[in-house]
Amino acid sequence: MPANVLVCQNHPPVYKENTMTNSRVGFISLGCPKALVDSENILTRLRQDGYQISPSYQESDLVVVNTCGFIDAAVEESLDSIGEALAENGRVIVTGCLGARQDEILARHPQVLKITGAHATDEVLEAVHKHLPQPHNPFTDLVPPQGIKLTPAHYAYLKISEGCNHRCSFCIIPSMRGDLVSRPLEDVMHEAERLQTSGVKELLVVSQDTSAYGVDLKYQATNWRGQRLQTRFKDLATALGELGMWVRMHYVYPYPHVDDVVPLMAEGKILPYLDVPFQHANSRILKLMKRPAASENNLQRIRSWREICPDITIRSTFIVGFPGETEQEFDELLQFLEEAQMDRVGCFAYSPVKGAQANELPGSVPEEVKQERLQRFMEVQAGISAQRLQQRIGIRSTVLVDEVVEQGAVARSMADAPEIDGQVFIDNATYLKVGEFVEVEFEDADEYDLWARPVQSDPK
Ligand code: SF4
Repeated sequence: MPANVLVCQNHPPVYKENTMTNSRVGFISLGCPKALVDSENILTRLRQDGYQISPSYQESDLVVVNTCGFIDAAVEESLDSIGEALAENGRVIVTGCLGARQDEILARHPQVLKITGAHATDEVLEAVHKHLPQPHNPFTDLVPPQGIKLTPAHYAYLKISEGCNHRCSFCIIPSMRGDLVSRPLEDVMHEAERLQTSGVKELLVVSQDTSAYGVDLKYQATNWRGQRLQTRFKDLATALGELGMWVRMHYVYPYPHVDDVVPLMAEGKILPYLDVPFQHANSRILKLMKRPAASENNLQRIRSWREICPDITIRSTFIVGFPGETEQEFDELLQFLEEAQMDRVGCFAYSPVKGAQANELPGSVPEEVKQERLQRFMEVQAGISAQRLQQRIGIRSTVLVDEVVEQGAVARSMADAPEIDGQVFIDNATYLKVGEFVEVEFEDADEYDLWARPVQSDPK
């Protein structure tokens, strides 16, 4: 079988198209004229739904094999064709007469995505829709391909999973949203590509537990644009990094395997930015909180990330006044802040959430003590933040323009996520455009924000 798809063994090629879109289906049609008519029906429906038919395994996002099961030789040929499509592409839906002998197909090729019998156009289409997003049709679709977005056109949140396998004692998310359910890698990547096509420049990767991505899918392997990838944090970060957009990672827990992603930051593939919600530094409080990776030596982790990627920005959030937190344990948290020298930090005074296990813990901290600890915490961090921003004065860097106002442009550096981090003000630069990348030199800073002037980028 040549790598040309929609080639029937008994007939000449009947349909070929080579168009680069996000949803391309390869098709192998085997068997008799009745099977050929089934192939025509499936192809017609695929085209009606906006899919492109691809002429090669490499350019296809998945392959449909319409099989024949008439005689032993035809069965063998069908099984070989399925094997070839799996080897060359990896994502295969099987239909046709041989589909009636599912066990035989699965014994040889357990990794096929779906098997249907003959004359099963609806079932095949349903399987294609499940594994490959339906392309946008500008003549019939009322919404743009990227969907309705509430964020500005130049950045977007990309949710990679839903739910959480942890049971932090202050949190009720798992009881509302259930355990971790990761989206298939190719599904996430298709969405990322659609967002890029729509003009998005920065992807903000979010979930309840980004570093756990793929655990529920047992890191299942998949083919993506000719690469064999696993459904796991590092492989997703690698694939997203290849899109050439700003990719920012949020809600990453300090598991050891996060160390594998930091080199991608050092290489400039994804932004050198990690949002790691540590929540506390004292090990007893972390255990009471039932935090993931509570036993990790977080200071050591931060040091090793900085060794791999000296420019990394570390953002975190903390809770003060958790039930039972003593003055000494709070001091330990302040000590951790001083030593960790994180760039961006948010802090909340503990407040009980209805239904959370932590409500049962003894030693509730009085409200005025919580507020006093919150204030002390923020003062320490404000000093660290101001000092770290001073160190950036004189440095040249790329920023992304979020807004243009009367006084100039408001942008963000690689170290700043929208809404939660600082901003970069470029006075008088009203000629800049929202969503534009600009080279600047930082000239001034306060506790949280920077001021900069545009500069020519260095010739390559
Ligand atoms: S706080 Fe804990 S339980 Fe809640 S979503 Fe985050 S990791 Fe999961």
